[in-house]
Amino acid sequence: MPDYQAILNTIYSEAIQASDKGIVASYIPELAHIDINNFGIHLRTSEGKNFGVGDYNKLFSIQSISKVLALSKAMELVGEAVWDRVDVEPSGNPFNFLTLLEVENGIPRNPLINSGAIVISDILVSKLKNPKDDFLNYIRDLVNDNSVNYNMDVAQSEKATGFKNYAAANLLKSFKNLNNPVEEVLDFYFHQCSIEMTCSQLSNAFYLFANNGCCLRNKLHINDRQVKRINAIMLTCGFYDEAGEFAFEVGLPGKSGVGGGIVALLPDKFVITTWSPGLNVKGNSKLGMLALEQFTTKTKLSIF
Ligand code: GLN
Repeated sequence: MPDYQAILNTIYSEAIQASDKGIVASYIPELAHIDINNFGIHLRTSEGKNFGVGDYNKLFSIQSISKVLALSKAMELVGEAVWDRVDVEPSGNPFNFLTLLEVENGIPRNPLINSGAIVISDILVSKLKNPKDDFLNYIRDLVNDNSVNYNMDVAQSEKATGFKNYAAANLLKSFKNLNNPVEEVLDFYFHQCSIEMTCSQLSNAFYLFANNGCCLRNKLHINDRQVKRINAIMLTCGFYDEAGEFAFEVGLPGKSGVGGGIVALLPDKFVITTWSPGLNVKGNSKLGMLALEQFTTKTKLSIF
């Protein structure tokens, strides 16, 4: 086994010296005051060994990273029917881009951009008895930690300012690709995005995608074929219009969020999570991208 702790320490101390740490997302007012100097990395191997450096035990807003977890729950509940309502092609556009949605008759390009994730939220609102409670319990199962929670201030902040998400939901509704009321679906979506986790909790949450669909509590949530599909979608769509760049630099399926988190994984080997809230112009964590590029280069562990 490589000396993971030494590798993480080196990567951390190199990346933290970057003169440009990016910019903290401010379009969600509640996220704007997060200290840009936070930086943590956590690695969980498939044998259950954990390695961490920096702020890997501090909570942050997982934001769009939640889209992968919502997708896996929707696939668990309705299987292939997900693909009647959302496509699996990279969008090549920002996460909140609306033009394609109109041109393509209300079928979002993929489930990891906002419009696609809003369709997934609609499926969960239809299928779950108590959507917010049931989804949170699902996440707690994955993480193997009942302390995981929504951040109500972040959810409220987005509810008050998420105009483009209202626009996307209304467009979806006009194309009959939203079954529940716009307000109800977005309330769920904003809560889902507001979930807070630490790097180590996120590594645990994504363990099932490196472990054939079985979570840390030993429950089988999705089958091998569904895991393959979710990992493929992360690789091709997990970083919006920078998915090609992430595959090129890092070479792992992964997902970013505007809270500054990135989770990436190598099936049967490891899950790695980084958090640094400064974002590049595409909305992906600047130091996170740097650190992960170094990680797969130094360990030679990528899918390529
Ligand atoms: N909640 C954010 C939004 O809808 C998520 C975006 C992101 O993390 N890329 O705008």
